[in-house]
Amino acid sequence: MNKTLEQLPALNLDALKIIVSDWGFPAYRAKQIIGWRNKGVLNPDDMRNLPQDLRTALHKHLCCQPLKQVQKQCSSDGTRKYLFALHSGKNIETVLIPEPERATVCISSQVGCVLDCPFCHTGTQKFEANLSAGEILAQVLAVKNDLRENPLPSELHNQVTHIVYMGMGEPMANEEALHASLSMLMAEDGLHISRRRITVSTSGLTPQIDRMGQLYPVNLAISLHSALDQERDTLVPINRKYPLQELRTCLDLYPLPHQRHITLEYLMLDGINDREKDLEALAMFVNLQRDRVNLIRFNPYPGSPYKGSASDHMNAFAQGLISKGIRATVRRSRGQDIMAACGQLKSSFAP
Ligand code: SF4
Repeated sequence: MNKTLEQLPALNLDALKIIVSDWGFPAYRAKQIIGWRNKGVLNPDDMRNLPQDLRTALHKHLCCQPLKQVQKQCSSDGTRKYLFALHSGKNIETVLIPEPERATVCISSQVGCVLDCPFCHTGTQKFEANLSAGEILAQVLAVKNDLRENPLPSELHNQVTHIVYMGMGEPMANEEALHASLSMLMAEDGLHISRRRITVSTSGLTPQIDRMGQLYPVNLAISLHSALDQERDTLVPINRKYPLQELRTCLDLYPLPHQRHITLEYLMLDGINDREKDLEALAMFVNLQRDRVNLIRFNPYPGSPYKGSASDHMNAFAQGLISKGIRATVRRSRGQDIMAACGQLKSSFAP
């Protein structure tokens, strides 16, 4: 790639120092730019302590325009769902999930998805593009900027503390950008977010999980949804390539941070994966020391062929797991009124 077209969100301090020196500016200017960038300010015109000629050079030689916010929906629980336009014109969605002690940004890694899970709203949109590392990071920066300009009510946390790769797309199918964005999220001169506060969710591409574990051992979430190969082959078709036994071996080798667990995401679908035999298979699959199970309420989207399990059945399923010594919880769904919950993202807002 032409160096002059590099994206500001994905540059580290050393690389930017070289660039600004090449332009004839002192290295400390790079630190000022990174300071603005890390606060979510990308537009050079808003970097108030920079001289005008440096702002002009930034405009001319780097891609430093923020993502264009096409739409923002705010849920009554504080959740914000953003529709951003990439410079290519394609749209992606990003979600902010604030709580009293933390605020999580759920980021997209692809436009559409290469995989085709039949329960997933994103999966109904055909794959259009991989995001670059800069585009992945720019989502976090855009949310940070929005929080500066439009703070949340005081009872909610107003700083981005956690990142989850659970938006549109399969992050492991965009491995190069995933790794580059993880590196920048964790770097001291990047967003400096601890690996314990970053989670990558995948449908189970085992070679990629192995590689991420070696390079960036962040928290891992697996879209499991069934522990029976026959059912999972349908629900999560990548299972045909990487079946459950292979996935289990891979998960047992994943380097876990101290006292951390792998999250097995389990979307509960009425009559599909919530039967007694499904519970038994799930209990057999779980590694008691390493895993925890997150039961997720299915959020129907228009045209969806599935129905979610009833609440009392979900609770009974969770109790069935707990009685076998498994850490199991029913996930509270956030932002449901704006379709920002799991598997609902699609890059055109629902009517
Ligand atoms: S569940 Fe994840 S991997 Fe499957 S289609 Fe949806 S976004 Fe893609």
